[in-house]
Amino acid sequence: MTVESPIERDCVIAGGGPAGMVLGYLLARRGLRVTVLEKHGDFLRDFRGDTVHPSTVTLLGELGLRERFLELPLTRLSTLDAVVDGQRITIVDFATLPRPDNFLVFAPQWDFLNFLAREASAFPTFELRMLTEATGLIIEEGRVCGVRTGTSDGGLEIRATLTVAADGRASVLRAAAGMDPEDFGVPIDVLWFNLPKPPDPPPPTLGYISAQGMVLTIDRGDRYQSGMVIPKGGFDDLRAAGIGALQTRITAAAPFLHPVVSTLVDWDQIRILSVQINRLRRWYRPGFIAIGDAAHAMSPMFGVGVNFAIQDAVALSNAIAEDLATGAVATEKLAGVQRRRETPVRIMQRLQRNGHKALARATAGRRIAPRWLVVLLRAASPLLRPVTARFVGIGVRPEHVNGGIKG
Ligand SMILES: Cc1cc2nc3c(=O)[nH]c(=O)nc-3n(C[C@H](O)[C@H](O)[C@H](O)COP(=O)(O)OP(=O)(O)OC[C@H]3O[C@@H](n4cnc5c(N)ncnc54)[C@H](O)[C@@H]3O)c2cc1C
Repeated sequence: MTVESPIERDCVIAGGGPAGMVLGYLLARRGLRVTVLEKHGDFLRDFRGDTVHPSTVTLLGELGLRERFLELPLTRLSTLDAVVDGQRITIVDFATLPRPDNFLVFAPQWDFLNFLAREASAFPTFELRMLTEATGLIIEEGRVCGVRTGTSDGGLEIRATLTVAADGRASVLRAAAGMDPEDFGVPIDVLWFNLPKPPDPPPPTLGYISAQGMVLTIDRGDRYQSGMVIPKGGFDDLRAAGIGALQTRITAAAPFLHPVVSTLVDWDQIRILSVQINRLRRWYRPGFIAIGDAAHAMSPMFGVGVNFAIQDAVALSNAIAEDLATGAVATEKLAGVQRRRETPVRIMQRLQRNGHKALARATAGRRIAPRWLVVLLRAASPLLRPVTARFVGIGVRPEHVNGGIKG
């Protein structure tokens, strides 16, 4: 194996997911020398977080990218409905948010990441190295000074003022930094699969929830990105029961899928998302910080993972870009980023954990809530929708880009 001479950068980021690509874009935009390392050769991974929330569309607007982003092949939704015990409830109405970003976008994550890579490549100080895996940290006198990488033709050292772990929920770099997340047990997993739409489909519906189970039907134009919530670790039993048993469970929870469920013929069509919720106690050490899923894995509930990862990137860029230009980032600045971002993360994770308890009842053949509560929620939903839209679509502490383009 050959080892190339070290490269010197202002910032090196492990992971070309939403957190890493947005941070890379933001720093390069400020003229900083930034390298993003991505271990895969492309961004093509199915069933990743595809939800781009209104807060993220606003951020893209602040960067002057909004209109070009909205030209991608994407789906816009203004409401999120669920059918609970046969009762349709509009849970979120994004149309109640201030214009123009009053809708939710479903964009394939690879389109979004390719878009960010294209836009970032316009900055001469941006570098994206695909097929380059961060394998360890360079640590000198207790300070992180860069990463070691593995590529198909050898290894490389990249030295940087700041090293960022944006390498996702199985982060190699946070482990190399001696950080171990606190895991909050989760009682559910999610199976993802595509289904064609049946003739005369019902209005767009996020999911069907009852004592028969929970099935997600995210409207993606010509198809449903479908999901089934199962008990944690229950995949092997389901597989042993055969694909026919899975079809039966899907149609029990969402009977209108009966005409199309037979298109599921092979387990290769089905991906399992092992749902996790975890959080690092400390996200940083001198010269190093973890952001996005590497700092806090979120449940897919409310589809916030991508948006939280991006908000972390914006908060970090805002806090450190000026320091980075001088060649040093004070550890206290990194601590400030954790303090700022930890509150929204904690609140959302708490809500997700409570939500999981209800969903786990549906996977165990029980109602998620007493009938009177469902009826009450339905009646109160017009009053609740603006609140849920704000909480889900904008969040508790939305970030804004320092020096962004307003309007
Ligand atoms: C199956 C699935 C479904 C999901 N559904 C939703 C959803 O519907 N809505 C939602 O908002 N969120 C969803 N999420 C979560 C969402 O995808 C994540 O929260 C979000 O992508 C986190 O962004 P990130 O940039 O922090 O990490 P990631 O998106 O995980 O990106 C990390 C990147 O780092 C790369 N990488 C990993 N290790 C290394 C290394 N050592 N060196 C170099 N590169 C490395 C990976 O290849 C990846 O590209 C889902 C997640 C999964 C797994």
